[in-house]
Amino acid sequence: MNSEPIVASVRAVHRAILDNAPMIESLDRAIGDGDHLINIKRGCETLVALGAEIEPLPPAQAFERIGKKLLGTIGGASGPLLASFFLAMGKDLDGTLQPSSTQMAQAFSAGVDAIRSRGKADLGEKTMLDVLIPVARLFLRLTAESATMETLCERLKEEAERGMLATRDMVASKGRAYFLGERSIGHIDPGSKTSQVAIAAVCDLLAGRRANGANGANGTDSMPGAGFEGTAP
Ligand code: ADP
Ligand code: MG
Repeated sequence: MNSEPIVASVRAVHRAILDNAPMIESLDRAIGDGDHLINIKRGCETLVALGAEIEPLPPAQAFERIGKKLLGTIGGASGPLLASFFLAMGKDLDGTLQPSSTQMAQAFSAGVDAIRSRGKADLGEKTMLDVLIPVARLFLRLTAESATMETLCERLKEEAERGMLATRDMVASKGRAYFLGERSIGHIDPGSKTSQVAIAAVCDLLAGRRANGANGANGTDSMPGAGFEGTAP
């Protein structure tokens, strides 16, 4: 298969980030240094421009290319963290030409683990991981239960939203917000917001394709509607 669903996801994430730009910017102005939106926007623009190059590639290579490209484009803490996420996803999917939803959940988890070890952070530290860790766990659980694509998308969106909102009451212990100590309470972490926005955008895209009967398959085992099946490698 090719990486058309990945290219479409990148475009959807870019649009969603632009739609949420004012909120992301004001969050990073409150507890960061105000560059998070610029960093993420630059990353999205670079990946959108990479579309034609990555579309013909198998997913593992597309994710690897995305990771390498992000390393050289996004600055700040989030650049290397997001790069390691995609590089780890690529590594996990190496040799898998048509990933099932279970394999996508495993690759997503491997990506989140790479962020954890690179950033030396965990749950409850008021970072993007407060969205990514619970979403990765639920993704694994739901695919193990063979949840439908509709359920998967809906539940993962809800979990991302819950994780993002939970950062409001946390004291930051990683990243620049750490220097604010207790004063970081009351503000949502900007990286958790961009992660939630990105997850919601991909879920909406995939659920929409499913609803439009893009592939017509049942269950989630071959990411029906995502386009992760049905195309010759
Ligand atoms: P910087 O903080 O260097 O200016 P950005 O503004 O692009 O970088 O990104 C900030 C976001 O990165 C934070 O909101 C937080 O979610 C995330 N972040 C910062 N440090 C870490 C870390 N050690 N582990 C995971 N995420 C982190
Ligand atoms: Mg910043």
